[in-house]
Amino acid sequence: MTTTCPGCRTRPKGTGRYLCLSCWSTLPMPTRRELRRRDPQAFARLRSLHTQLDQGVPLTEIAVTVDG
Ligand SMILES: [Zn+2]
Repeated sequence: MTTTCPGCRTRPKGTGRYLCLSCWSTLPMPTRRELRRRDPQAFARLRSLHTQLDQGVPLTEIAVTVDG
């Protein structure tokens, strides 16, 4: 079963990744750095990413810094 990338909704995303490589490389570097971190806020950042994608925020403008 292939999961479609939530960024472009056309390409499959890589196993264990949030987005396909094309979308991932389009994210701002600070956003990628935050998404790579594994800490108690990791899920909140992923949820923030998906919320923004659903709202149509351009990949180049997505930031996932979580307060607290
Ligand atoms: Zn994609």
